[in-house]
Amino acid sequence: MDCNCWFQCINPECEATYSIFDSIYQCRECESLLDVTHDLETLRMRSASEWRHLFDDRYQRNIWPYGSGVWGKKEWVCPLIDDENIISFYEGGTNLFWANRLGRELGIGELWIKQCGNSHTGSFKDLGMTVLVSAAQQMMADGKKLRAVACASTGDTSAALAAYAAAADIPSIVFLPREKVSVAQLIQPITNGAMVLAIDTDFDGCMRIVKQVCEEQGIYLANSMNSLRIEGQKTISIELVQQFDWEVPDLIIIPGGNLGNVSALGKGFMQMRDLGLIDKLPRIVCAQTEKANPLYRSFMTGFREFQPIEAEPTLATAIQIGNPVSIERAIRTLKAFEGSVEQASEEELSNAAARADKTGMYNCPQTGVALAALEKIIARGEINPQDRVVVISTAHGLKFTEFKVNYHQKAIPGVDSRFANTPIELPEDINMVQDAIEKKLGALSVG
Ligand SMILES: *Cc1c(COP(=O)(O)O)cnc(C)c1O
Ligand SMILES: [Zn+2]
Repeated sequence: MDCNCWFQCINPECEATYSIFDSIYQCRECESLLDVTHDLETLRMRSASEWRHLFDDRYQRNIWPYGSGVWGKKEWVCPLIDDENIISFYEGGTNLFWANRLGRELGIGELWIKQCGNSHTGSFKDLGMTVLVSAAQQMMADGKKLRAVACASTGDTSAALAAYAAAADIPSIVFLPREKVSVAQLIQPITNGAMVLAIDTDFDGCMRIVKQVCEEQGIYLANSMNSLRIEGQKTISIELVQQFDWEVPDLIIIPGGNLGNVSALGKGFMQMRDLGLIDKLPRIVCAQTEKANPLYRSFMTGFREFQPIEAEPTLATAIQIGNPVSIERAIRTLKAFEGSVEQASEEELSNAAARADKTGMYNCPQTGVALAALEKIIARGEINPQDRVVVISTAHGLKFTEFKVNYHQKAIPGVDSRFANTPIELPEDINMVQDAIEKKLGALSVG
């Protein structure tokens, strides 16, 4: 099957096209973003059921590179990269589980969590980075001179870029807002040998600088402005539906910062619908923190207006972004998916994450934002009891230990840690230990 894809300007009045192996991130004619567009005619040569079978046969097996959750869908993602140039850690294939206890406590029928943080570098960013770095590898194999790959990051993009670039043996440069990422996120690119630049600014400032650096020949931009990343990330929705035996859930809640991921989620569903694998679309809710809520503000105007803002410090550092690159894509997606936007305060996101942790999870603060949004939507009666609801968990909680420690020590200013659990320090004395246990279990049985 001779599949093809290309970059196409997202401006419907322009629609200029470029090769996906051009180092280009915005249209040369009108400066709009570019989307990867696929030749659907060729893809239609396989029926919907043939695609389902092919994807199911490959899923989490070991024939290179098709066991990857991303490359198992290679024809739909980026068919132009030769298998030997693919750089993959077998990303994807993350667990989707029934959060039975939390769903029950919140009073909804079916709550599921898509645990995208159970991935090589601990976040969903791996899904997009495998495609981008593989494309860079293909470009180099074709004789193009790339000196390095670079990105601005709130912590997870840089971890993913550093790892994939290291596997490909391509130098990487990451721009981080100084002291605005977690210790784990800072040490990840350091261990992988990236050049780590901690800049005295916020994410939006890092983004401005990296764009200029990448205008120089030979440094390839790895931010989600580069829509190759979106192609990998869109496999989230394909994999999700596959895990439900090709049934579409009713509602999906996803946290949003730069808004590439919510756009990718929508793009995967659109492609499945265009190729006949599904016949309905879910509702999508994008969740933002009150401290960085430009999409929420736009939603309040019915998406008629949009103003970039200066994002304020938030516990949800990975989505502390005031001027999201994919704003147009995101608005388009939400309009097509009966979408809405919800916001959460620091206290709401902290308590929502901790409450879910008490049912056995271990949530990052961004997932806390999505869980807080879920609680608010339930409180407004906007979820039917029989709805199947999915929360996209975007990173592993272990990347955010400081957040967890501070919460349980009740040390987050302005946050009432309703679910704090503090260790009990005792001498080596059996009576005192037994007393402490009795007191605790007694209190539990009263409640
Ligand atoms: C990047 C990231 C997000 C936000 O994704 P966008 O595509 O920037 O909207 C959410 N959560 C985590 C953990 C992330 O790393
Ligand atoms: Zn254009």
